[in-house]
Amino acid sequence: MTHQTSPRNPAHAPGTNATPDAGPAPAAATPRDFSFGVGSRLTGPDGQPRPGRTGTITTPHGTIQTPAFIPVATQATVKAVLPEAMAELGAQALLANAYHLYLQPGADLLDEAGGLGQFMNWHGPTFTDSGGFQVMSLGSGFKKVIDMAGPKAPSGQGADDAVAPGKERLANVDEDGVWFKSHLNGDQHRFTPEVSVGIQHQLGADIMFAFDELTTLHNSRGYQEEALERTRRWAQRCLDEHARLTGERAAKPYQALFGVIQGAQYEDLRRQACGDLAAMRTGFPDGGGSGGDALEHGFDGYGIGGALEKANLGTIVGWCAEELPEDKPRHLLGISEPDDLFTSVENGADTFDCVSPTRVARTGAFYTADGRFNLPGAKYKRDFSPLEEGCDCYTCAHYTRAYIHHLIKAKEMVAHTLISIHNERFTVRLVDRIRVSIQDGTFWDLKDEVLGRYYAPKA
Ligand SMILES: [Zn+2]
Repeated sequence: MTHQTSPRNPAHAPGTNATPDAGPAPAAATPRDFSFGVGSRLTGPDGQPRPGRTGTITTPHGTIQTPAFIPVATQATVKAVLPEAMAELGAQALLANAYHLYLQPGADLLDEAGGLGQFMNWHGPTFTDSGGFQVMSLGSGFKKVIDMAGPKAPSGQGADDAVAPGKERLANVDEDGVWFKSHLNGDQHRFTPEVSVGIQHQLGADIMFAFDELTTLHNSRGYQEEALERTRRWAQRCLDEHARLTGERAAKPYQALFGVIQGAQYEDLRRQACGDLAAMRTGFPDGGGSGGDALEHGFDGYGIGGALEKANLGTIVGWCAEELPEDKPRHLLGISEPDDLFTSVENGADTFDCVSPTRVARTGAFYTADGRFNLPGAKYKRDFSPLEEGCDCYTCAHYTRAYIHHLIKAKEMVAHTLISIHNERFTVRLVDRIRVSIQDGTFWDLKDEVLGRYYAPKA
């Protein structure tokens, strides 16, 4: 585990730019500042190669050993947990949300503060998602979790203008972008591919995502095709704008841009989207030594997004892994449970984000090797053991179930902090073990052992 210190660097304090004695000016930002290298490859129980692999993502703010779990810090904070504690529990990078930070406090403010990481005192790599998911899912009232749990209507059967019961439609898509209403105060806003990329450049994360149209499993096949074509056109616009801003903001560290693969549950659409985005290129200013010539460059990696049913998760990630270039990282946007982690790694995802560790913590739920339990239960009132025996997290080293049970009953906020630290550490550690198991050839044994125990019927 790493322990982060946070030296204050006056050269990067808000409102000041590099001073003459701050050393030589940094080289201009270039896509060469971001890279991915594949390490070990997964072999199936049958001895055949599988898409899963280990790797290293190199960013201007440090490296990420993959597969890696990326905890979510939606509003520039992991809910109830300090960045120092996230570093101590082994988080390698954090993912924040462009939509939320654009509305509050504003992307220009983060730019002025020196970017997301500097603003929130996190010195490792950062991601921002494009805001497309929030703009459209908050807009239609459908959250992805509904799709993950199974659609209410049979998938692919009409309902293109469906809105969740009791919700007003708050987002409208056209060729150029999306009009939407703020969930905070109802104000009207507009996101286009250029606006989203501009916001993400101001937010300053190491890895950004192209602005895409989120569809749901309720949409018809015809609408999925139309939306996918629009997402393809938006992807090229994102890439072009990204290259322009990289040149305009050449003194800032390079920010990688990932294209986002949509296509819902349709194999042909997913494969086509992968091929289209993998082939996409634009001209970048080359900050390196080749005389300032333009550098033809595409996306730095890919996000797999959109409507996914849990049962199809592995199949869809597998289609994408077959089509996408081997030498670029693949991020799976938004998953939830331990079995999803194994499924997505096995099928070729390198990184994934997930809000579950902190979301379930707020209801008092904690993860253990034997499954998820609810701490508000009366049986924990006099249980003086840690949340999980053998866990190396700060919470388990210092606090008992009885104490945290008391904090929940007394409605003390620190309960959320203590459970969140444990749940984040549980998830980070599980993915660390998965990574090592690919290296030493024990992935399938680990999967059987972990899932067999986690999902075993409870006594
Ligand atoms: Zn723990």
